[in-house]
Amino acid sequence: MEDVIIIGTGCAGYTAAIYTARANLSPLMLSGTQPGGQLTTTTEVENFPGHPEGIMGPDLMMKMQAQAEKFGARISWANVEAVSRCADGSFLVSSGGESHATKTVIVATGAAPRHLGLPDEKSLIGHGLTSCATCDGAFYRNVPVCVIGGGDSACEEAGFLTRFASTVYLIHRRDTLRASKIMVDRTLANPKIVPVWNSTVSAYLTDEQGEIRAVTLTNLQDGTTSELAVNCVFVAIGHVPNSGFLDDLVDKDENGYILQQPGRTATKTPGLFAAGDVADHFYRQAITAAGQGCAAALEAERYLSEHAS
Ligand code: NAP
Repeated sequence: MEDVIIIGTGCAGYTAAIYTARANLSPLMLSGTQPGGQLTTTTEVENFPGHPEGIMGPDLMMKMQAQAEKFGARISWANVEAVSRCADGSFLVSSGGESHATKTVIVATGAAPRHLGLPDEKSLIGHGLTSCATCDGAFYRNVPVCVIGGGDSACEEAGFLTRFASTVYLIHRRDTLRASKIMVDRTLANPKIVPVWNSTVSAYLTDEQGEIRAVTLTNLQDGTTSELAVNCVFVAIGHVPNSGFLDDLVDKDENGYILQQPGRTATKTPGLFAAGDVADHFYRQAITAAGQGCAAALEAERYLSEHAS
């Protein structure tokens, strides 16, 4: 029987692992489908304390992994399909055909990119539709591309893509960006970024090979439509929490975010804690996720000492 299983290997998961490993609990981490979490798909992280020159997202996550493993965290590169609670209050975590028994669980599964919900969307991923400029931007050199969204992610993606694309259209449903001021200023000052305000993408248009060649734009003020030639669409319209596998072990809000007890990482099920973006739709920062990972580890430690048998 494990003391702690941590589900997810983003900032929250690795921080929980560092703390529980240093408390001699030898945590088992189950990585999920995106080892390293969302920071592995970003470029430079400028706001994580302790890195005044900035640090690349994947490098930061590799350092967190090394720090967790140094203190004895074990990592299994597997996806969790289900968690169930046993009569004695322990848990069974099912992953890749295996079942792991554990006294506590820390859920740090983060969130996945949201899509527009247009027909054929899933089949276009990898054929000109993506949510990761870092992964796919370099494939689109000297051609026009677009980014959908008006938040920090959209601005960051758009700025990164100007290294490769001829023009980056930034398509936003309003005429004001919600991103932080520094990102807005940088974005609007970049001559390669062309904002397309009050508009949404209502269809993806493909060529004979099934690759995106253009999008249909709908102007939300007058309802008119137009075609915009782009070779790639980067969707940056927020995220959906990865909480579906937990069934009724936790309460969730209407968007699927896990509800924690006020000021805590504890959920409604004793011994099951939630940390990071899977439970936080408000801050959603690497550092706040790390902070919650720390809190969940401390709460799990306390729970284990109170329930020692
Ligand atoms: P976000 O702040 O929630 O922004 C999502 C954007 O997508 C909004 O502009 C929203 O429009 C738009 N949108 C949502 N649903 C849409 C739809 N169905 N159709 C068209 N547009 C839609 O998400 P985010 O940019 O991913 O940022 C998430 C968090 O991470 C934020 O707290 C952000 O500050 C943080 N972040 C920070 C950095 C950084 O500091 N370097 C980088 C990336 C992200 P509306 O504005 O009209 O709602």
